[in-house]
Amino acid sequence: MVFTAFHVLISFIVFRFCCFEFLSFFAGVVAPDIEAVYFMKEAYSVCKPNDYKCLAEYPSHWFLHSFLGITFLAFLIAIFVYSIRKYFNMKKFELKNLFISAWIGGVTHLIVDSTVHKGEDALMLFFPYPEKYSFVFPYSHIFWYAVSLIGLVLLIISLKDFKKWLS
Ligand SMILES: [Zn+2]
Repeated sequence: MVFTAFHVLISFIVFRFCCFEFLSFFAGVVAPDIEAVYFMKEAYSVCKPNDYKCLAEYPSHWFLHSFLGITFLAFLIAIFVYSIRKYFNMKKFELKNLFISAWIGGVTHLIVDSTVHKGEDALMLFFPYPEKYSFVFPYSHIFWYAVSLIGLVLLIISLKDFKKWLS
C-alpha cells in the first residue's frame, strides 16, 4: 500500500505544526488501512492483476474508514501507546491526549481518502449508515502528491527532533 506512506507524509505537516503525541498520532494515521490489506486480497481474486480500472474501483474501505472506525482505533491505540510509554519509561501522557492524537491522525486519513476514492470505493464515513461519501476534486491525486512532497521535505529537515518526539 504505497498510499499509506503518503498519508504519513501528508499528516506530518499537521503533526509538525501542532501538539500531538507522536506514536498515537501516526498509529492513527496508518491504522485505517489495516482493512485495505483484506480488501486488496479480495480485489485480486476478482480483478485481473493488470486490470487497474477494476482494481481501483473495487471497494476497499469499510468500518475502519469511518468516524466510528477511527474512534474505535483511537481508543485501542491510546491504551496501547499508554502501556508502551509506561513500559519503556517514556514521558507520560494522559490517555485523553493519546486518544485525541490518534483520532486527529485518523481524521487526516479520512480527509485524504475521501477526496481520492469514488464510486464503490468511496468511504462510508458515518458507518453503519450505508451512504458512501466522496469529495474528489479535479487533480486531487496530484494535489496530494504535491502535499506529500512538502511533508517529505519537512520530515527531512525535522529529523533532528525525532529524539524529542520519542522521549
Ligand atoms: Zn485508507
